[in-house]
Amino acid sequence: MKRSVNSAIKKLTKDKKIIISVLAIGLVIIFVFCLDSSGNNRINGQQGNVLGAFENTVMRLEHQSNATVISNTNIDYKALCATSSNISVGAVSSSAEVTQIKAPILMYHYVEDANTSSLPYLFINTYYFEAQLKTLKSHCYQTMFVRDVAEVLYDKKSLPVKNITLTFDDGYADWYYNVFPLLKKYQVKATMFVIVNNIGTPGYLTKEQMIEMANSGLIEFGSHTLSHQNLKKVTDNVAKDEISKSKKQLESILGRPVYSLAYPYGFFTKRDEILCQKAGYLSCVSTYPGDQQSFKSRYSLYRLRPYTRIDEDFINWLENEDHSKTIN
Ligand SMILES: [Zn+2]
Repeated sequence: MKRSVNSAIKKLTKDKKIIISVLAIGLVIIFVFCLDSSGNNRINGQQGNVLGAFENTVMRLEHQSNATVISNTNIDYKALCATSSNISVGAVSSSAEVTQIKAPILMYHYVEDANTSSLPYLFINTYYFEAQLKTLKSHCYQTMFVRDVAEVLYDKKSLPVKNITLTFDDGYADWYYNVFPLLKKYQVKATMFVIVNNIGTPGYLTKEQMIEMANSGLIEFGSHTLSHQNLKKVTDNVAKDEISKSKKQLESILGRPVYSLAYPYGFFTKRDEILCQKAGYLSCVSTYPGDQQSFKSRYSLYRLRPYTRIDEDFINWLENEDHSKTIN
């Protein structure tokens, strides 16, 4: 093979050798130019596709490296996500009531080092919770309050492509010690729904703790009604008090407006959605599984339980699963 190539070269005239050399040098120059201009988007067509694939590979590798260094708490997430393509999508016209936006709202209850809950599906270990925060941050997710999701639906805000909303129900005291420090550490926003009659009672958050957390700018407080009754089983008057008085009392405790409510046990009827609207809430959350929200269903927003998913498993579940089929 080598010999036949050599003899072919020998047979070439001097002129042909020069032409082939010039062509070879030209190809090298074009190749170098392509590599150099990859960052400037100057390349179109097939060459662009080749470089696009190359960039995708780099992005995949970056993602993989994020996953492997997830235990490193010194990651500069701001710098990491500065060049992320986390652009905002346009707001949704409220006239288009059924327009859906992808806005996953995660639902948590107990976050503790040991499971003290008699209901294991309401519990998540602090280790997994922190790992979930790291996963979200390293994938450049922007956290929102429930009221932000509502404002997107009301056409008042735009929606980051990678948006996520964390919600916590009931207002347990340990939340201040287990969850709030982690939210501060990773600068993650969350909405906490409190049972208003339980504020300051044993096992629940105090007014002072709530005010401190609200002032941090990281926590939105919403109502989880006055006394956590099953709204499906109470009279119209009781339902009205549970929904509207809880809002007023919470507002007087916090000294700021309250925009969101979570139905206790996820039980509610159309009557309760109307009561929510009349009371002045922007939106209410249910426990129905899903991540597609719409203006029409703003008083029964969907939520998802993340359980102990972390790293790529968590992201794949968030981004690729059909949550209309999820069992909550
Ligand atoms: Zn509850």
